[in-house]
Amino acid sequence: MDHAGRLNRLRSSLEGNRLDSLLVTHLPNVRYLCGFTGSAAALLVADRDCILFSDGRYRTQAKAELATAGVSNVRIAIAQKSPLVAAAEWLAARRRGSAPPAVGVEAESITAAMRDRLLALLRGKARLRSAPPLIERARMVKDPSEIQCIRRAVELGASLLGVARKKIQPGVGEIEIAAAMEYAARIRGAEGMSFPTILASGSRSAIVHGRASAAPIPRRGFVVCDFGVILAGYCSDRTRTVHVGKSSVEARELYQAVLEAQLAAISAVRPGVTCDVVDGAARRVLRKRRIARNFTHSTGHGLGLEIHEAPRLAAGQTQELQAGMVITVEPGAYFPGKCGVRIEDIVLVTGSGCEVLTPTEKELIEI
Ligand code: ZN
Ligand code: ZN
Repeated sequence: MDHAGRLNRLRSSLEGNRLDSLLVTHLPNVRYLCGFTGSAAALLVADRDCILFSDGRYRTQAKAELATAGVSNVRIAIAQKSPLVAAAEWLAARRRGSAPPAVGVEAESITAAMRDRLLALLRGKARLRSAPPLIERARMVKDPSEIQCIRRAVELGASLLGVARKKIQPGVGEIEIAAAMEYAARIRGAEGMSFPTILASGSRSAIVHGRASAAPIPRRGFVVCDFGVILAGYCSDRTRTVHVGKSSVEARELYQAVLEAQLAAISAVRPGVTCDVVDGAARRVLRKRRIARNFTHSTGHGLGLEIHEAPRLAAGQTQELQAGMVITVEPGAYFPGKCGVRIEDIVLVTGSGCEVLTPTEKELIEI
């Protein structure tokens, strides 16, 4: 991965954003820029200096990971105190020239208490400014090595549905099925799951984020399985809804409506199309079936180092899709107390349209 290129592009964008430096505290952003994966870090990116502040636990790891990432211009500063405090003290000691330099902070990632602490330590020797989401914007478009990682994560994630299908039987606890999937994921090389596995059966399928519970699978009804793995740092995310027992005509109609909505949204994905248009394509199908009200979340989200990244595919989102973006397309319809259906795939925006990663059959599976 071209960490050095990412850092250089960020550095050259600072001036245009009226920043002398950027204090990167959101850990996935730190990882994106310099390859460091530890849990304590602040990366100060300035015109001339680039310093990774961390603590003693990460001395060896930081050195190794930065060397692998090939960012030889990033210095490592191991502090006895929190990385943020160490960075603030460094900035306070550095003051040069007449005007205090403008230090950008990632407002979404620092708390009000952290900001107060920084201001107290800086004692007016640097000004803090909420930086625009420069790194998040860069992360929206994946480079070929990231796409390769996501492909592998999606492929591994997709293989878990086979595990679920074998386990799903009336009377088996949802949590037991999720556990089998998660065990298989780890055995097959995943670092972890990208979020707690959602396994929602029977009337629980109407709960959009119904984490696997102790509830047993009922004799008849939908089971929403929404799951993902992390592989080499990158997330996958997929939902399949299966049916236990013979499905009713209404259940099949509901499933078909959601599937049609998902296919319509996927066919709308191409460079230059805005995110709200893709969302609208899914909603239009469900409106025709008079169940648009039951589609209670957005159509999708970007993903990569994090399970939810920009862009968002929702009403009012005017971000244009670009080749290299990786997004989910996941419409659903939910009837509280009764049932719900969701179908989700990960889609790569290509030069001329899109590609569904690890496409698998989406006709309704009866178990
Ligand atoms: Zn999902
Ligand atoms: Zn998702």
